[in-house]
Amino acid sequence: MINCPIEKLADEVRASYGQTSSPVSLDTIAEGEGISLVSIEKCEGFHGRIEFLREAASFVIYHPDPNNAPNRKRVRFSIAHELGHYFIEPHRELLVAGKSHNSTPGFICDNELEVEADEFAAALLIPRAHIEQRLQRRSFMTLAEILKMGDDWQSSARSATIRYVRYTGEACAMVISKQGKLTKYIPSDEAEALGFRFTGLKVAPQGSAAIQLYNDSSKRNIEQVHITTKTWFPYLNGERDLDEEAFRLGDTGYVLSLLSMPAEEDERD
Ligand SMILES: [Zn+2]
Repeated sequence: MINCPIEKLADEVRASYGQTSSPVSLDTIAEGEGISLVSIEKCEGFHGRIEFLREAASFVIYHPDPNNAPNRKRVRFSIAHELGHYFIEPHRELLVAGKSHNSTPGFICDNELEVEADEFAAALLIPRAHIEQRLQRRSFMTLAEILKMGDDWQSSARSATIRYVRYTGEACAMVISKQGKLTKYIPSDEAEALGFRFTGLKVAPQGSAAIQLYNDSSKRNIEQVHITTKTWFPYLNGERDLDEEAFRLGDTGYVLSLLSMPAEEDERD
């Protein structure tokens, strides 16, 4: 589901700083708001933190050093996430009230705030207008096209895929797995409407493209399989075609799958 107030806020922030083309300059936005960006060299397990410095009455965002971090785009996402805590009014009020924010769980970081900051980050890094324009020309995108969009906007593969899944009218879903275990499942509105709300699985199933990547570490490209919904949704009634494209997220052990369930007229008996 699209979070309209957060999309609008991200649009306003980009517009105020003339960030209408790719990639969005987070430095320009931070500088314009008087926020200091401070990179931390030793950053294992650290994603980012924003603090309000009472004496200077200004904000500072600590983030991993992009030159040492395994994934620069991930650092951009973290900075954009912290900017979310700054630009979303209730989050900022908490910061000014002296509750510091850390990306690790606890403190003010309840789940709802984290989800909002993530939505803001994704919306800031890839404008909705761009995706809407893309989807007007053709209603769906392949995983290769989504990854290219992520590269163009210097946004992670994961957040580019979430942006696509949020905006497409197609029935599809993103699945993230780590060493074969499912860690995230996000269906499109259409997929939810068709009943694909959960997969009901804890591990990537046999026959899936994700499992093929785990079983063969020499596969470095997009893996594609044409299967049916029985593979990923074994507990649902009915069966229809399902195309899965899967891609290794660097050397993190994570695999991203895009499941596409074609339109009704193609449905199997
Ligand atoms: Zn956070």
